[in-house]
Amino acid sequence: MNELPQKRIAIFGSTGSIGSQALEVIEAHPGKFSVEVLTANSNEELLIKQALKHNPNIVVITDETKTGKVKEALATTSIKVFAGENALQEVASMDVYDLMLAAIVGYAGLKPTLNAINAGKAIALANKETLVVAGEIVMQAAIVKRVPILPVDSEHSAIFQCLMGEMRNPIEKIILTASGGPFLGRKTNYLVNVKREHALQHPNWNMGAKISVDSATLMNKGLEMIEAKWLFNLKPEQIQVLIHPQSIIHSMVQFEDGSIKAQMGLPDMKLPIQYALAFPERLPNKFPRCDFRKYNNLTFDEPDYRTFQNLSLAIEALKKGGNLPCILNAANEIAVYAFLKNRLGFLEMTDVIEKTMQKISFIEKPSLDDYYQSDGEARQYAADLVQL
Ligand code: NAD
Ligand code: MG
Repeated sequence: MNELPQKRIAIFGSTGSIGSQALEVIEAHPGKFSVEVLTANSNEELLIKQALKHNPNIVVITDETKTGKVKEALATTSIKVFAGENALQEVASMDVYDLMLAAIVGYAGLKPTLNAINAGKAIALANKETLVVAGEIVMQAAIVKRVPILPVDSEHSAIFQCLMGEMRNPIEKIILTASGGPFLGRKTNYLVNVKREHALQHPNWNMGAKISVDSATLMNKGLEMIEAKWLFNLKPEQIQVLIHPQSIIHSMVQFEDGSIKAQMGLPDMKLPIQYALAFPERLPNKFPRCDFRKYNNLTFDEPDYRTFQNLSLAIEALKKGGNLPCILNAANEIAVYAFLKNRLGFLEMTDVIEKTMQKISFIEKPSLDDYYQSDGEARQYAADLVQL
């Protein structure tokens, strides 16, 4: 049997939780992948370590004050060092890789991902904010360029896996499962006192700071509803959220005959990362297996929309569409940043997002420039509110 050529991978956001786990997956499958591009925002030490180990063609460090250190550390190698935000977009457009793992956090991931699509590169998408901000434009560009967008987010990977072999069968609805985060069952009187350290303790997943806070507020599930709408071309009423604290069922698809398919496994991001990198192949691995005798009590519940109002705000943005999800996302990024700096209370994040959504002008059919503009305005307004 002929061996397939190595897939050339560019990891945008390689020093993060997803990026680092992707490198572990790649390392565990020698000969399958080659690492061509690694990028980091400011963690130059880890970027250097990763570069020395995986020997990419190019590294990008966004924080230009760190350029000298990276260049010096890689001086004896043939690795090219690029620096600055523009370099991120430039490298994304270069014909030096086959698949981009979009693992930058937040709005910062949008432009490089769009450039990669326009350059005809396959995308393994972890960065959900890209679709929340400009889903219509991103998916349209992918269709025009015939580029696959392979979901990495575990819920969307689950849905994608359930849809294999079902391409002609319409979806009746999807059921997005949610662990409920560290404050499941808590009420407002508890949440008012919650601090950064509590919010970063997720029961089932070990993730970057921003998504951990989003999981604690349930904003993450709201962002994922919007992400699902664009990935699977769904109407808001076809997307149901269900609390499932054990995180064994990663999500489900219900078809028009009432049949429901679920994708299951232990909560481990390496599985959806590996599935997206190797798609359409399933690679053998040594990840721990799920033993249902140990998980003999899978439970399901309705989310508490009154307590976790960020989820309700995201649903409002999902239903109204236009630039509202972009505004929601920008205000949320500022609010989470302020919360992580102990400048804003847990529940106050909701106020900032709500006020920003009310303030910034609504645009029903935004252009890409409108999205950039709305993002900037929303960020500015939210930053003024929290006095950043
Ligand atoms: P993280 O904070 O651990 O890592 C983020 C990465 O992005 C780092 O490499 C960082 O250097 C880079 N980065 C941050 N800001 C940047 C900027 N302004 N410009 C350029 N690079 C920048 O985040 P993470 O948890 O790995 O999450 C990455 C993305 O994947 C997020 O969009 C998140 O929602 C999504 N995701 C993560 C998980 C998870 O388990 N961690 C699960 C599902 C989806
Ligand atoms: Mg998820």
